[in-house]
Amino acid sequence: MAKLAISGGKPVRTKPFPAYITAGVEEKEALCRVIDSGVLSRYLGAWHEQFYGGNEVQALEKEWADYYNVKHAIAVNSATSGLICAVGAIGIEPGDEIIVSPWSMCISATAPLFYGAIPVFADIEPDFFCLDPESVESKITSKTKAIIVVDLFGQTYNADSINRIAAKYGLKVIEDCAQAPGALLNGKPVGTLGDIGVFSLNYHKHIHSGEGGMIVTNDDNLAERLQLIRNHAEAVVEAKGVDNITNMIGQNYRMTELEASVARCQLKKLNSLNSKRLQNVVYLESGLKNIPCLAIPKVRENSTHVYYVHACKYNQGISRVSAQKFVSAVKAELPHFELREKEGTKLGAGYVKPLYLMPVFQNRIAFGKSGWPFNLNDSVTYEKGLCPVCEELYSGGVVTSEFMLPSLNENDINDVVSAFEKVWQNREELL
Ligand SMILES: *Cc1c(COP(=O)(O)O)cnc(C)c1O
Repeated sequence: MAKLAISGGKPVRTKPFPAYITAGVEEKEALCRVIDSGVLSRYLGAWHEQFYGGNEVQALEKEWADYYNVKHAIAVNSATSGLICAVGAIGIEPGDEIIVSPWSMCISATAPLFYGAIPVFADIEPDFFCLDPESVESKITSKTKAIIVVDLFGQTYNADSINRIAAKYGLKVIEDCAQAPGALLNGKPVGTLGDIGVFSLNYHKHIHSGEGGMIVTNDDNLAERLQLIRNHAEAVVEAKGVDNITNMIGQNYRMTELEASVARCQLKKLNSLNSKRLQNVVYLESGLKNIPCLAIPKVRENSTHVYYVHACKYNQGISRVSAQKFVSAVKAELPHFELREKEGTKLGAGYVKPLYLMPVFQNRIAFGKSGWPFNLNDSVTYEKGLCPVCEELYSGGVVTSEFMLPSLNENDINDVVSAFEKVWQNREELL
């Protein structure tokens, strides 16, 4: 008789895993404070005392800048808007090239398009999954203006090498640290490793305010341009006396007082949430290291990893079962997380499809029908095979999970490890 749940056996566990909930009493009090104040957002899209937003937004920016030891923090309504702001702030020209990673959330690669710039994909490191410095350097042309690096899964990008390359060619580095709040490299916080760092406060991230984003920079000029793009720059530049008006058609990327008040509470919890996460990683790995087809994630030298995703390399040569099959079998042994009934359990084979395979790049259609901005620059291409390391990892080279979430205790993690062990021991049933 079949033992594995996927073939009709009894699953290891059916009781849902506890939900990861970070907001509670403090956030409720903060929201009430804002509602009682009567001011749910305080911005004017004009050169005015209130151009910079209300008390909660400004207090959050100060606390965020202190925490990350950086001169400027700028609150926005998402990391998506933050990345678009960053591309505008560095003064990009239509047709310029920006080197991006194929393995990330889509906006890390599509942000350049909003200013008519062309994303150029470089491959990723086989062990750390962040942009590979050698590949980055090989993609540089006379049109390259910047690199958007990603601290993927909570691992810091290879800042030592990539920043050296950026300096050599005079490129700006925009750091997408949405998945790595609180990670450090050589003792320096993420976000401050490049010229501009962008954090996310969306519901899925380590800490959140529902939706939200934070941009950080040590550069006064970039900070001003970011603030302008956030809030209707075109209506502000004249009165503010801004000389450089390139890319100064602004947006409304403003964070409200409600979100800012919640984000302030969340920032205070980041250290303790991250240490619980790291404690769970150690415990999870003490079990997973006994599964021969999995390799525990490597951590870059002199850095801390904050595990937005726990990604083990998968070796099909050892198991003789594809990652997809293996993962489906483990998933069948385990329940979903509370509040996430529709998503199945937090386990996957691979991660997103290499981003250049999305229709926007395959069809070279972004704005309008004539191919803008791709028609400015025919030399950049997006064919399958462009980033072989990423393609191999995507098609079953890694097993990703979130079984280190701080809501889990050791008993929960024991069930996870039992499920992996059970599938490993009975893998013959999958052949
Ligand atoms: C979540 C995420 C974003 C986007 O964040 P939003 O705040 O939802 O816009 C960008 N980049 C990465 C790597 C992400 O994980």
